[in-house]
Amino acid sequence: MQVRKLLSKCLLRSLLFPLTMTAPAMASIFADAPPVVSADMAQQILEEGNKRFVQGTLSIYDVGTSRRAQLSLGQYPYAVVVTCSDSRVPPELIFDQALGYIFVIRVAGNVLDAVALGSVEYAVEHLNTKLVVVMGHEKCGAVKATVDGGHVPPNLGAIAAKIQPAVDIAKAANSADIYEAATDANIVNMVNIVNADHVISQIAGVKVIGAKYHFESGEVRFIK
Ligand SMILES: [Zn+2]
Repeated sequence: MQVRKLLSKCLLRSLLFPLTMTAPAMASIFADAPPVVSADMAQQILEEGNKRFVQGTLSIYDVGTSRRAQLSLGQYPYAVVVTCSDSRVPPELIFDQALGYIFVIRVAGNVLDAVALGSVEYAVEHLNTKLVVVMGHEKCGAVKATVDGGHVPPNLGAIAAKIQPAVDIAKAANSADIYEAATDANIVNMVNIVNADHVISQIAGVKVIGAKYHFESGEVRFIK
C-alpha cells in the first residue's frame, strides 16, 4: 500500500510538470532529446528537492538498469554544485536528485583551484549546464582550521591559503561568530572566482549562486 501511494505521488508529479519540475518529471524528458535547463529552472528544481529533503519526503528514483543504460549514452546535468568534502554534505541527497542530474565538485572548504575551476568550466561549456552553486556549510572544519591557524602540512596549507582571504574579511568585520562569518565570506569569494572565470563569463545564460547548508534543519539557504 505504501509503495502504491508513493508511486502515485511520482506519477502525479510527472503529470504536473512543468509546474513542479521535479527530478522524476525531468527524467522522462531526458529519455530522448534533453532540453537545456535554464539557470532559474535548475535552481527551482534544487529548491524543491531540498524542501523534500527537509520534510523527509524523498522521491523514489529509478537508479536501476534502464536508467544506467540511458546515462551510458551521455549526461545532461542541470546544475553544477561545488561543495565541501564533509561527509555530512552530500549534494545528491540534500537536493534529492538522482543519477545524472547534478555535476558535483567536492573539495574541503569548497575552494576552487585551477583543477576544480576547470571542472566547472567543463560542465558549463561542454555539458550546457547553466546553474553553478557554490555551497558551503555550517561548522566547516576546513574554515575552522584556517581561522585557528598554526602549522599545517603543505597540501592542507594549500586549502587554507584559499580560505584565508575570507578569514581576513571576517576578522576585519569584527564578526561575532568568526567561523560562520568566514564561511559565508568564503562562499562569496568562490562565487566571485567562478564569475570572473574567462571561459564561464563568456557563456550566455549562466548563473552562479552561493548557498549554505544547515545541519539540523537540512535546509539550504541560497545567498545571492
Ligand atoms: Zn566543510
